[in-house]
Amino acid sequence: MAKDEVLECSFCGRKKPETDLLIAGLDAHICDKCIEQAHGIVIEETAQQSSSSLTSELIVKKPKEIKAFIDQYMIGQDKAKRVMSVAVYNHYKRLLQPESKDEDEIEIEKSNIVIVGETGTGKTLIARTIAKMLNVPFCIVDATVLTEAGYVGEDVETILTRLLQAADYDVKKAERGIVFIDEIDKIARKGDNPSITRDVSGEGVQQALLKLLEGSVVNVPPKGGRKHPDQKFIEVNTKDILFMAGGAFSGIDKIIGKRLNRQAVGYSASIKVDKVDEDNLLQYIIPSDLKAFGLIPEIIGRLPVLTHMNPLDAETLRAILTEPKNSIIKQYQKLFEMDGIDFTINETALGYIVDKAVEYKLGARGLRSLCEAILTDAMFELPGTEESELKITKKYAEDRINQSTLKRLKAVS
Ligand code: ADP
Repeated sequence: MAKDEVLECSFCGRKKPETDLLIAGLDAHICDKCIEQAHGIVIEETAQQSSSSLTSELIVKKPKEIKAFIDQYMIGQDKAKRVMSVAVYNHYKRLLQPESKDEDEIEIEKSNIVIVGETGTGKTLIARTIAKMLNVPFCIVDATVLTEAGYVGEDVETILTRLLQAADYDVKKAERGIVFIDEIDKIARKGDNPSITRDVSGEGVQQALLKLLEGSVVNVPPKGGRKHPDQKFIEVNTKDILFMAGGAFSGIDKIIGKRLNRQAVGYSASIKVDKVDEDNLLQYIIPSDLKAFGLIPEIIGRLPVLTHMNPLDAETLRAILTEPKNSIIKQYQKLFEMDGIDFTINETALGYIVDKAVEYKLGARGLRSLCEAILTDAMFELPGTEESELKITKKYAEDRINQSTLKRLKAVS
């Protein structure tokens, strides 16, 4: 090449001085602008490919595989795991159905899920774990902040704002995501349940939720809320979004118990109600119990898969401490390890933590608070010292709980 010949981009022809960067290949050059453009094309293409291959990837997971995945992170709750694995499998099978105009075609309906169970029994965990496995956008929304349009609070559309955010505003991805609506029981109709005291009728929120659950095109404010009146709405179709709703439905056991009693004296006594496990009435839940609690029939109809979480007994709590892939104790071990400290906790100390968690009735959530209370001092004091070992005994655990945080935990319970 002659010395005074000016190099140029082999793609757009820009001369070297017109570019910020010109990169040489074997016998071609490319400028920064063309690299950027090409990069954009690559991103767009791969996004398209990944969204079209999304469903086929998803369907590879059979219900047993879904459950096996959840098993790694979650102890017990076998029934719920099975029910939800099937519901999720069917949901994504439904997405594979080509859209048909044929009236006779069998249409698979959505399998939105409602999970009933005391607080801290793993309702959110199972939803989150499924979303992780499927690698789909996931968001949790609290039903208590939702209000009917026109009231102070959030419109139901903001649920989808969260999902869009979780999908980095990739609408196609969001349209296959999972939404977990927490505390669905708090929007129960007041009339049927005197214990619920909401100012804004929960029924109105239930009505507003209907259109989301059944599948429709919704105008979503991308930034959420009503604080940004100028924002352009994004259209999101909720047809293929899987909704999971969870709630403690406090007091529903009485409704179930009453129903079972009625059955025992009525014609349906043939059902073996004499073997009722009084300690866990939730396992007998049926959709009409949700109606008696105050969910409107239309909502119940759009959450056709109903399952429950069992209360966590001491044995399960003990297993939750150490067995899951990212169990609480394993997490602390890792944290201490990063400071070169070998962290161990003996069996009696673990037993003590479980006993306290049962006492405070905080479900598995109590385990975490207790561990924090026991270990905060050590996590503050030890880093930066010569210490290379931390052994937790029952005595150590007891002392820490008695000293500082017992009152706080009692207040929470
Ligand atoms: P919920 O939504 O029912 O109130 P969460 O799913 O938020 O309860 O669970 C609370 C905490 O307890 C989470 O940190 C979760 O990891 C843990 N947890 C609850 N149940 C289980 C379980 N069966 N196995 C493992 N961890 C559990």
